[in-house]
Amino acid sequence: MENNFDVIIIGGGPGGYVCAIRCAQLGLKTACVESRGTLGGTCLNVGCIPSKSLLNLSENYKKVTKDFNNQGIEVSDIKLNISKMMANKDKSVQVLTKGVEFLFKKNKVTYLRGKGVLFSKNNVVVYDNGEKKSYAAKNIVIATGSAPTSLPGIEIDEKNIVSSTGALSLNKVPKKLVVIGGGYIGLEMGSVWSRLGSDVTVVEYLNFITPGMDKEISKEFQKILTKQGIKFKLNSKVISVKNKSDSVDVEFVENTNFKKEIINADKVLVSVGRKPYTEGLNILKLGIKKDTKGRIEVNSKLQTSITNIYAIGDVIKGPMLAHKAEEEGIAVAEIIAGQAGHVNYDVIPGVVYTSPEVATVGKTEEQLKENNISYKSGKFPFLANSRAKVNNETEGFVKILADSKTDKVLGVHIIGPHCGDMIAEMALAMEFGASAEDIARTCHAHPTHTEAIKEAALAVDKRPIHF
Ligand SMILES: Cc1cc2nc3c(=O)[nH]c(=O)nc-3n(C[C@H](O)[C@H](O)[C@H](O)COP(=O)(O)OP(=O)(O)OC[C@H]3O[C@@H](n4cnc5c(N)ncnc54)[C@H](O)[C@@H]3O)c2cc1C
Repeated sequence: MENNFDVIIIGGGPGGYVCAIRCAQLGLKTACVESRGTLGGTCLNVGCIPSKSLLNLSENYKKVTKDFNNQGIEVSDIKLNISKMMANKDKSVQVLTKGVEFLFKKNKVTYLRGKGVLFSKNNVVVYDNGEKKSYAAKNIVIATGSAPTSLPGIEIDEKNIVSSTGALSLNKVPKKLVVIGGGYIGLEMGSVWSRLGSDVTVVEYLNFITPGMDKEISKEFQKILTKQGIKFKLNSKVISVKNKSDSVDVEFVENTNFKKEIINADKVLVSVGRKPYTEGLNILKLGIKKDTKGRIEVNSKLQTSITNIYAIGDVIKGPMLAHKAEEEGIAVAEIIAGQAGHVNYDVIPGVVYTSPEVATVGKTEEQLKENNISYKSGKFPFLANSRAKVNNETEGFVKILADSKTDKVLGVHIIGPHCGDMIAEMALAMEFGASAEDIARTCHAHPTHTEAIKEAALAVDKRPIHF
């Protein structure tokens, strides 16, 4: 009986651990298998959390070295201590991963350390340090996440050629850093090292950065990052990366004029995306289907082709984001418990934690055009927002897209200070089916950055007050 569970979850990332806690709350006898040695998955160990720690610390360093003297705060003799900075980041990670262990104990979730392998539709075998134990479960949830990908011919050694994991733990500031890929992870890590003094060049295959983002925001974002000193080689295909032990040659070719260029860099960050991780799980033997991109196929109830086996998070389709994985974890727990678990995929916010931040939710202007949806747009710049003005943070704007007939908010795209927090208001508004008029008539505290949201909503009806 001790080895029999209502639910076994394989993977202790934000999808898996949140699912486990919710299952336990619902009275299900639950176990979670994790092979990493610590809970929290990619997000807590080598993703969201350590990257945000370094983004915060490097932003503080930039402010104190570049901005404070112009603001009447005179500082001198500033020294960067990378090992202390890394220790600070590691401590935050440790506290948070231990916190998840505590939550497991509190909720009576059994934590199984080791690699979980599907033996049958109701059996999971856990391998740990040469030992093998078998467990039975009425339901199994696959939450094994994702792993970084590379390009053909580029070998990541996590020394000179690094993935995001290596870029989170460099022991000194590279003089030159090339980032291959202009997605959000590459831009966040590029920003960290640029602020700490690195000469950063981003090489991107497309002729714009942050694919999938509203184009107007993406253009503004690139402009701001360029002003901060990050260089961009867009529309460029990397053709070789030569590791010369003390440096790396990155060769790329411009896609339209075929001009070749080589940049010699101390470090190269390969940030070209992540792939679903299902190594050694035995899913194909069991007949669990994957799509052409290697993601586990699920139906609207997040069931795989075997109905008592579910899959959530980065290992299935949809944006690879921690909060999306968490929502799916909760939905699956509730579905297993006989409730109506559900995820609204139309309202999943996305944030890039650079400075300024970028935050989006809902449809982009390009998607609305593609789908022939008639819309109105309201924009408001932070330059006209009093709080942003007094804080010297005037870059960026809020853009609200609303249905031209019903006025229902369809998408919100912000680049500007603290918008990673501000986007929650817009997600809530969209969950409640708000119109731009509803937002425009909601009283927003003064002076706050959120007034820019109210003004953008007023601008949808061409009546902003402060612009
Ligand atoms: C640098 C970086 C920054 C990021 N920043 C953000 C951010 O700011 N916001 C955001 O929302 N997202 C961010 N992400 C993405 C986020 O980390 C992922 O979307 C999220 O972690 C996915 O959660 P998951 O539970 O699906 O998988 P994961 O977090 O990948 O967890 C899966 C876990 O399963 C374990 N596992 C795999 N196979 C087995 C097995 N057979 N047996 C036992 N255990 C197994 C793995 O060890 C892993 O711990 C970032 C990612 C990176 C790399």
